[in-house]
Amino acid sequence: MAFVDLHLHSRFSDGTYGPEELVAQARRHELAAIALTDHDSVEGCPGTARACAAAEIEFVTGTELTAEQDGNELHILGYCIDTQNARLLTQIARFQAVRQNRIREMVARLNQLKVPLSAEAVFALANCRAPGRPHVARALVEAGLCASLDEAFERFLKKNRPAWVPKFKMSGEEALELVHQAGGVAVLAHPGLNRMDEVIPRLVEAGLDGIECFHTKHSTATTEHYLQMADRFHLLVTGGSDCHGLSKGKPLIGTVKVPYQHLEKLKARAAEIKQLIVTRVDS
Ligand SMILES: [Zn+2]
Ligand SMILES: [Zn+2]
Repeated sequence: MAFVDLHLHSRFSDGTYGPEELVAQARRHELAAIALTDHDSVEGCPGTARACAAAEIEFVTGTELTAEQDGNELHILGYCIDTQNARLLTQIARFQAVRQNRIREMVARLNQLKVPLSAEAVFALANCRAPGRPHVARALVEAGLCASLDEAFERFLKKNRPAWVPKFKMSGEEALELVHQAGGVAVLAHPGLNRMDEVIPRLVEAGLDGIECFHTKHSTATTEHYLQMADRFHLLVTGGSDCHGLSKGKPLIGTVKVPYQHLEKLKARAAEIKQLIVTRVDS
């Protein structure tokens, strides 16, 4: 039986692995295919595609977009997207600028709290265009200002803690549209983490293609719950480890095994979406 991992982060967002290392890990776990889903970035896709080709592992392009519905954060995974799509790249550049400004604001708040961290230290550590809170947490630990990543989040960075800064987000509908116009399949990431089942019917109405049923933080009962939901709404089923390398404790790649058949269906849906775009341009 072949298995895939469709939720992986690299150093192009808040993961620690570069493309080669990520693919080496995928190979170690004998995965048949992987998708790279960096937050608000597709920058790691070309390098990961090359490393996958060399290792004879199938590669699926992807990204994980942050959106908002009724004041709640939700993550939309885009699969099989055209990573050269102009509008996707323009929007991603905008989200990345928002992320960088947010880092500066969080650091300013830390400084007000007499925590002497510099934004430059966070950017140097992040070394990517899509920096996020995990990078601030790591910078705090490396500077000896916090004892652990957990402490950094608990004391300063978690929602409503003193250095937390709200982030501008597009709506769920906008995220779905952005993925679709780039020829991609739109999937709601880890719904069990956000516990917002009530938004699912609305997202389905707006064209949601699938839900991530298999995820590291989903219990067996949660997975079962979303498998039933996928069935009820005729949605694709996806899954992955949400591995961030070493930045969130131990590497998770290979811990969530998703049967290859789910990727088969996802690719069929992607082909339909791309066909729809071609038809629309022709007519
Ligand atoms: Zn996520
Ligand atoms: Zn993720």
